[in-house]
Amino acid sequence: MHPDAIAPASVIRSLGIYNGYRGVWVDKKNTASAAAPSGITIGVRHDGSSYADILSASGLIYKFPETERTGHDELEIEATRTAMRLGLPIFVVSGHKDAPTREVRLAYVEACNDEAREFLLAFVPEPIVAPSHPILASQDSAPEWLARRIAARMNERRFAFEVMDRYGPRCAVCEIDERALLASAHLRPRFANGTDKPENGLVLCANHHLAMDAGLWRVDPGDARVVARSGIDLRRIGVTRYDLSLLRAQPSIESLVWLWRLDFKHVNSAMRPRRSSASAVASP
Ligand SMILES: [Zn+2]
Repeated sequence: MHPDAIAPASVIRSLGIYNGYRGVWVDKKNTASAAAPSGITIGVRHDGSSYADILSASGLIYKFPETERTGHDELEIEATRTAMRLGLPIFVVSGHKDAPTREVRLAYVEACNDEAREFLLAFVPEPIVAPSHPILASQDSAPEWLARRIAARMNERRFAFEVMDRYGPRCAVCEIDERALLASAHLRPRFANGTDKPENGLVLCANHHLAMDAGLWRVDPGDARVVARSGIDLRRIGVTRYDLSLLRAQPSIESLVWLWRLDFKHVNSAMRPRRSSASAVASP
């Protein structure tokens, strides 16, 4: 992280980046107009309490505010939507509210999911400072590698958001709809050349995500029905919905076929260790 991104809380307040005690800071006095009566969001506070795994180097999924003052919540959601519509970046201020310093980053509001009640925020990449003296060796490889890595992280974040948007915030095979327990699962994992397109995913609760990865259940690509591994009773592992054709969107057939052909093996078995090809070459 860039050292300039750390600032004392008092400086952040005096610059107007973030103020108050609510999660979303709308400087209504200075941003409200006839075109944006709710004002425009300037900054949001991220204290890590919403979802544990969602902050990454490239962005974050920001939960809609949910406080007892629902009127305020609605105005803040509208003001954040306005920042998205206008393409204005907002400040993301992280750190505990009682800590003396905060970390500040700029992000664009990329998308909004009214049903799962969350925004997708993408951090503006930090400026890469040019070296003050020429670097002699391999100066080309590092930036390309870095750019690939940043892009991969953002794709992951976007995948999580788009899968939730496509299928709705509920486990595909049970009734769990508590957002904090839901994950966007890859059907065909990235390490097995799976894509980050939302049709290569399903929304699953934590249990059924683990169970699918472990090969306890699969989806028959022929009729989209949930099938258990032999010896597994679907009811005992909490599956209550067996027909994925009833989902409001359908996963990709290619992805389902790929997973079906893996049989009931753990998805990690699709990771091909390099040594198998090396030993094949070595054997006479
Ligand atoms: Zn479930």
